[in-house]
This record gives sequence, structure tokens and C-alpha cells, in this order.
Amino acid sequence: MSAIDSLPPLREVIATHDLRAKKSLGQNFLLDLNLTAKIARAAGDLSECDVLEIGPGPGGLTRGLLASGARRVLAVEKDARCLPALAEIAEAYPGRLQVIEGDALKVDPLAHLTPPIRVAANLPYNVGTELLVRWLTPTEWPPYWQSLTLMFQKEVAQRIVAQPGSKAYGRLAVLAQWRCETRIAMELPPEAFTPPPKIRSAVVHLTALPEPKFDADADVLQKVTAAAFNQRRKMLRASLKGLAPDIEDRLLAAGIEPTERAEQVNLERFCALARAVAGT
Ligand code: SAM
Repeated sequence: MSAIDSLPPLREVIATHDLRAKKSLGQNFLLDLNLTAKIARAAGDLSECDVLEIGPGPGGLTRGLLASGARRVLAVEKDARCLPALAEIAEAYPGRLQVIEGDALKVDPLAHLTPPIRVAANLPYNVGTELLVRWLTPTEWPPYWQSLTLMFQKEVAQRIVAQPGSKAYGRLAVLAQWRCETRIAMELPPEAFTPPPKIRSAVVHLTALPEPKFDADADVLQKVTAAAFNQRRKMLRASLKGLAPDIEDRLLAAGIEPTERAEQVNLERFCALARAVAGT
């Protein structure tokens, strides 16, 4: 029995179900339920919400979310070995946990969720970044979710909240801050995980704004920032050359000197550039 619920401690769950961590699935498990409850609290008031959790593994964060009062949790897990452990949690919280076995990049969870919806996850780095970009760039805004509470490698977390002029500032900062309030909710040392990864981690909390801070088309803003930051040391007139034949005029129309570098351009001017490139 653990401090937050009547289920066995996670070490015991892992031993019972033989859940040895697989590197190929980016498995670094959180076994301290007080810590997972703290992450769940960082997600905000869950009592009225459905929570989408990606990659529940043996269920540490899942239990934190349920113990923190989430109305329902929908958990998407790729590793079938974790399903029996998750079934035990579902039994302890009748009607509140649904598990889908599958790849979060392929599964559409929306059919199983009722708004308001929040997202919480401790994910492998590569899947996490790809999902984040998808969550941030739907054509319509506001999105189906109210907030995202996501564990990342600390450097990635810093890239999400970064300001212009810093090394960490790039495409993720622009896309995230365009439509969300972003903040780092907590940092975690490697020892918090089993097995401990080589890197430090951080939980980022993003709250969806009712509307984007500045007008722009999501696809165009994505293309512009991807091209600008892929060659971040180059002047924008060179890195964006392929986007439009008259890119220098479009840069000037957005209030950007063609000789500036991506790092110096703030969110407002990137949105102006996306509008200029789209020809609006
Ligand atoms: N949430 C658990 C925790 O905090 O202890 C596990 C975290 S572990 C870093 C990442 C989890 O994501 C693993 O359970 C792994 O099997 C799962 N996973 C990896 N790739 C996935 C994918 N594409 N779709 C769904 N789950 C995935």
C-alpha cells in the first residue's frame, strides 16, 4: 500500500509484472508516488476534467492523476507488458481509467474524451517533441485541450520557455508562446527515475490561450520558423531564400532587417513575417 492510494508500491508492481525498462521505448519510470502526485497537481484542478495521459508505463503518474481527483484518465501506452498493471489501477478507480494500447503518434484519442480536457505525460524525448508540435499547431484555435503538463529533457523545457536573444530560443519557443502561457513547473534530477537517465528533466506547463497572441497561419509560421532556425547562424535573407523569391521585401514588410538572424526576432515579428509570406 502506498501513501496516495491502496495499491502496492510501484517497485512491487514492476517486480510482479516483470516490467524491466526497455531503452527502445525510452522507459525511465517514476516510482515515487509523492512525486507523481506533485506532477499531477502541477496540471491544475483536474476534478472537472478528463485527462489524456500518454505513456503511463507501470502507472505512477496515472495514480497521481487519479489520486489528485481527475474525473477520468485516458491512457495511451505502446508497451503491452504494462497493461496488467494498468488494469489493476482501473479496478481500484472504477469507471475512471481507460487504457488504449497503441502508438500515441497514430491513435486518435478524441473520440474517448469529454471536454474539458487536460494532457499530462512523461514521455520519451523524440515522441514528446513531435506530439508537442502537433498539439500546438492545429488549424483551429483554441484546441481540444486546456493545458499540457509534460516532462521533457531539461534543455527541451528551456527551449519551450526561451526568450529572443538566448541560445535556447527557436521554433519551439515561437510555436509554444504564440498560443500558450508557458512555464517550467519543476525540475527533476536523474535519480528521480528508474533507471536514472543521463540528463536532467523538467516539467513544463502550457496553458492554451483563448486566441493566439498575434494573427498568423499555423502552417506558414511553422515553415518560416523551421527554415529560419534550421540555419540559425545565417542572416534571414539567406536562410529564408527558398520561401519566396522576394523574401527581402517580405522581411522588410514585417519590420525585420534582411541581415538579422532568427535568434533576434521576437514572436510578434515572426507572426508579421508569416503574414507577409502568406501574402496577407
Ligand atoms: N509515465 C510513466 C512514468 O512516469 O513512470 C512512464 C514514463 S516512460 C519515460 C515513457 C512511457 O511511454 C513508457 O511507458 C513507454 O512504453 C511509453 N511510450 C513510448 N513511446 C510511446 C508511444 N509512441 N506511444 C505511447 N506510449 C509510448
